[in-house]
Amino acid sequence: MANPQVAVPTPVHPVTPPKKVPKPKNATDRKARLNRIFDELDRLFPSATCALHHDNAWQLLVATILSAQCTDERVNKVTPELFKKYPTIEDLANASQDELSQDIRTTGFFNNKSRSLIGAANKILSDYHGQVPRTMDELLAVPGAARKTANVVLGTAYGIPSGVVVDTHVQRISQRLDLTKNTEPVKIEQDLMKVVPQDRWILFSHQVIHFGRQICIARKPRCASCPLDPICYAKDKTLA
Ligand code: SF4
Repeated sequence: MANPQVAVPTPVHPVTPPKKVPKPKNATDRKARLNRIFDELDRLFPSATCALHHDNAWQLLVATILSAQCTDERVNKVTPELFKKYPTIEDLANASQDELSQDIRTTGFFNNKSRSLIGAANKILSDYHGQVPRTMDELLAVPGAARKTANVVLGTAYGIPSGVVVDTHVQRISQRLDLTKNTEPVKIEQDLMKVVPQDRWILFSHQVIHFGRQICIARKPRCASCPLDPICYAKDKTLA
């Protein structure tokens, strides 16, 4: 069966130089351009979802905390053993920080992450009756969870469109596609929440992350295979 998260290969085409791509002149142009972006993302990644393996909201929270400055692949290698060793929130709340640090060592920043995980487990047990909360404000009070983590958990585990996940891919691509002029994730998210309809927030984040991994990569984006080339006037397009 085809993997729905793998981009449909597009024929390689000549890349349009950024100066030759007309910029939208008014609200109607901007809307049409946005719809083209949504259509292409839907075509490429119709069922994009979070790549972090998890069975419930708690596991997703743990995996998302571990994914800071680390690839999802690496996290997915660590979490099966981790969840076997610490099957419940209580188990992590009572873990030895030194031992937990060693368990998650390969994800990097392991001392900070182990402190966050133990803190998160204790907070959820003491303040939220052992349930990962379902609101942004409550999640932001959990150690290790900033807006990005909260959006991942609320969107993927609970289907609550609380915002747009802004990771490094979403940050870069929002700028290349001129959906924001900002550079700070919180401001980028605010810009995206204005132009992306709320019922797309969850899917859009995952689609853009997949797009960033496979096509609009950080260095030398694959513009010759990108269906958004005709509407993209990013200065760092790969022309040859
Ligand atoms: S790969 Fe990125 S930079 Fe290149 S045309 Fe597509 S959106 Fe623009």
